[in-house]
Amino acid sequence: MIPIVPEEQRRFAVEIVRQLRDAGFETYWAGGCVRDRLLGIAPKDYDVATAAVPDEIRRLFGRRRTLPIGAAFGVITVLGPKEAGPVEVATFRRDAQYSDGRHPDHVTFSSAEEDASRRDFTINGLFFDPIEEKVIDFVGGQEDLRRRVIRAIGQPRERIAEDRLRMLRAVRFAVALDFEIDSETFRAVCEMAPGITAVSAERIAAEMRRMLVEAHRARAVRTLVETGLAATVLPEIVPEDDAGRKRLKDTTAMLERLTALGFPLSALGRLQWVPGFPLALAVLLHNVVDPAGAEQVCRRWRLSNKETDRVVWLIEQHGALAGARALRWSALQPILIADGIDDLLAMHKVSSAAAPEDLAHCRTCLTRPPEQLNPPPLLTGDDLLAHGIPAGPQFRVLLSRVRAAQLDEQISSRAEALELVGGGGRSG
Ligand code: ATP
Ligand code: MG
Repeated sequence: MIPIVPEEQRRFAVEIVRQLRDAGFETYWAGGCVRDRLLGIAPKDYDVATAAVPDEIRRLFGRRRTLPIGAAFGVITVLGPKEAGPVEVATFRRDAQYSDGRHPDHVTFSSAEEDASRRDFTINGLFFDPIEEKVIDFVGGQEDLRRRVIRAIGQPRERIAEDRLRMLRAVRFAVALDFEIDSETFRAVCEMAPGITAVSAERIAAEMRRMLVEAHRARAVRTLVETGLAATVLPEIVPEDDAGRKRLKDTTAMLERLTALGFPLSALGRLQWVPGFPLALAVLLHNVVDPAGAEQVCRRWRLSNKETDRVVWLIEQHGALAGARALRWSALQPILIADGIDDLLAMHKVSSAAAPEDLAHCRTCLTRPPEQLNPPPLLTGDDLLAHGIPAGPQFRVLLSRVRAAQLDEQISSRAEALELVGGGGRSG
């Protein structure tokens, strides 16, 4: 795969606007790329909005250079040179029912102004004319960019009722950009937070994933608690009242209680710049739920088995490296050779469950050559069978006893291993 070159991507997105414009269609850059550009952030991708309808877009760029995947919603993907990547070109449309948060169920093609007003937040409702270098602002997005505010376009309550995912998007954009949520929009989110249940688990998880890998993930969690969204999407982190019965409603009390419980907000903030999602989630949950509780969260969000296993393992092992220097090698080694060890070390580092010296010890051990760190076992199950030990539950016990003795350097040969399991008489 040829990596996308941002300058080529931009050039191609300008070219698309020029061609549509030359063919007589009003056309702009739209949404996230305009917002990011005005903030001085390199856009991840460019979205183009135009008066041309899908058939006209395809006719102009040719069937071979376009993909009609989103055509029913008015979106055509235009393929550029390899280094430029694809650009989505969408026909101006009016608001309609959304069911997947990206594409409305049915669309009515419309004007630029109406297309701006169907978008979620003012900072996401801007157009940019890359030929005249001009911003087209129907919604007051520029002012909100200057004031660093996330504000719903139109009536916050109505806009949230249309698509409840917007509540999580408000939090995500506020946190990612380090903006405040406008007070009326914030109030609407607080009031309507329980309605987030209308959003599918996958979409909630996708937003949580994006929030928790961001640098400001601790603020994201705090805002989820403050708005009441956490009570529904992640009730596990919302503490109960003194009687241990109902979840606390008052957010100040809630945050105080979380702090008193040693809730890992500050640990979350200390995580490395871009942790994987399983690590971030495990740090968030590690003082709060047991492994079964962590698994429940992962299943609810339909995470893959791989991610689920990692989160559950991290929760199981969350204090495992405490006192590592004093551990027998046979106890420490299986943890160090596990796939998730880097995540586990990162988690211990931020949670202060282990002394820095213990973590340093683990890192030193990990630099041992492979045959020392994880030597081939002296015995296998086949060896036991060959020596007349019947298969059964004691197999694993015997093998792990041998493995421990090998790692702790009590034995170093096959003969000694067989002797240990009582099969030494019949050498093979
Ligand atoms: P990023 O991709 O960096 O997260 P973005 O602004 O590009 O940010 P997308 O989810 O890619 O966000 O959506 C592109 C644009 O589509 C948004 O800027 C917004 O104008 C509009 N949009 C996306 N989702 C919604 C929604 N749920 N409700 C209303 N408008 C939306
Ligand atoms: Mg985008």
